[in-house]
Amino acid sequence: MASLSGIRWILSPAIGKHLRKHTKKHGRWLGGLPDRRGIFSARDLWMGSCRRDGLNSHVMIVSIGGGAAGLYFALLMKKADPANDTLVVERNRPDDTFGFGVVFSDATLENFAEADRETHAEITRNFDHWDDIDIHYRGEVLTSTGHGFSGMSRQLLLDILQRRCVELGVRLQFQTEASDLGAYADADLVLAADGVNSVVRSRYAEHFRPQVDWRGNKFVWIGRA
Ligand SMILES: Cc1cc2nc3c(=O)[nH]c(=O)nc-3n(C[C@H](O)[C@H](O)[C@H](O)COP(=O)(O)OP(=O)(O)OC[C@H]3O[C@@H](n4cnc5c(N)ncnc54)[C@H](O)[C@@H]3O)c2cc1C
Repeated sequence: MASLSGIRWILSPAIGKHLRKHTKKHGRWLGGLPDRRGIFSARDLWMGSCRRDGLNSHVMIVSIGGGAAGLYFALLMKKADPANDTLVVERNRPDDTFGFGVVFSDATLENFAEADRETHAEITRNFDHWDDIDIHYRGEVLTSTGHGFSGMSRQLLLDILQRRCVELGVRLQFQTEASDLGAYADADLVLAADGVNSVVRSRYAEHFRPQVDWRGNKFVWIGRA
């Protein structure tokens, strides 16, 4: 699972194979350690898989899911070492849209700028920025300031990330359902970026041990075309 703002990543069981292979080859793991839940940061993962005597060695990376998280992760991996063979497998077509927006805090945008200036420039060229949140209640308006958020349509964000992936040489495979992970057994690293109803998480539930607590909630979604 991956979250855009934190850029924290849980890996599929292929990581076990990868860690063993890597440790055997290099004698020790060179990246950081996962946290209590078995989550590596993207940076630690990268350092651990590729750093060897000051040199990078290329790895094969597969992202299951070409949403924002999968695409962004793939482009950062390719950017870190163009020798990496990086593949994104996505069940939908490139322009299938789900018609909702994504919102970034100013802090998230700063992380974007640090990670990849090119996508940050494209995102900031296309978003709407706001600072105030107005609460309308029984004829009164209460304004809360200083929030600093930016929003854009999800499809526009995906377009930007897809273009950048292509520019860097990431392979994008659309209209491909990843149901049999055995097809990616040769990969050094498989990223489960297949969203909230993750097939990977369900398939390997005994390893990830996810805890999902479904509850009722009142929710209003006010869409804007
Ligand atoms: C109505 C709505 C409003 C939202 N508003 C906001 C907001 O304002 N701000 C915000 O930050 N977030 C918002 N979110 C949440 C945001 O959409 C998610 O946080 C974000 O999309 C997560 O990105 P992701 O790449 O992890 O997953 P996803 O965007 O869900 O991408 C997962 C991808 O994996 C693909 N996939 C899944 N299974 C497979 C498979 N087996 N094989 C191949 N491909 C597969 C899917 O087709 C999808 O493209 C909203 C979500 C909804 C539903």
